Amino acid sequence: MLNSVETPAKSGFAELVVRNRRFLEKNTDYKELEGGQHPDFIVIACSDSRVTPSIVMDSGLGSMFEIRTAGGVVDEAALASIEYAVEHLGTEKLLIMAHTNCGAVTEAQKLLRTSIAGKEIRVESALDHLAYGIYRNIAGNPDNEVDLRNAVIDNAKAQREALLKSSALKEAYQEGKLEIAIGLYDVSTGELAIL
Ligand SMILES: [Zn+2]
Repeated sequence: MLNSVETPAKSGFAELVVRNRRFLEKNTDYKELEGGQHPDFIVIACSDSRVTPSIVMDSGLGSMFEIRTAGGVVDEAALASIEYAVEHLGTEKLLIMAHTNCGAVTEAQKLLRTSIAGKEIRVESALDHLAYGIYRNIAGNPDNEVDLRNAVIDNAKAQREALLKSSALKEAYQEGKLEIAIGLYDVSTGELAIL
């Protein structure tokens, strides 16, 4: 009987080393960054593989301090990461990048429909918990039941409020040492808009 998680086969990961060597053929930026990082932007974005900030905003290594969670949700670890960038790296600009067709916000919309239908919302898994948090961010506007674009923007606004609950970030914001913007990336056109 196995009492620990079985070690998965590693053969499939050799592809990642091949990709890394291909990266090294085209990039030497890492040499200049060995001594430290001074990113221009902090970006909070969804983990969705279609919305990688450094790629869609054409930025090289060392430029973007990225925090990515499903739905771009700012949790404790995200907050700590942002505080680190502001306080220790001196990064002064923060973009909360929402995106269209967000799966996490779509899950939250389902909860909103459940709630509007007067049914019980069940929160069991970690994913349920995350979706429930987003649901609370979008529940104020019943249009969010069908308007996903509006829902992702409402969620981004709520994340902005969440990060300003950090006294360190609020202080930096009030002293003009931290600028915050909300952006929307459209997965169908590839375009970013600052709202
Ligand atoms: Zn998403």
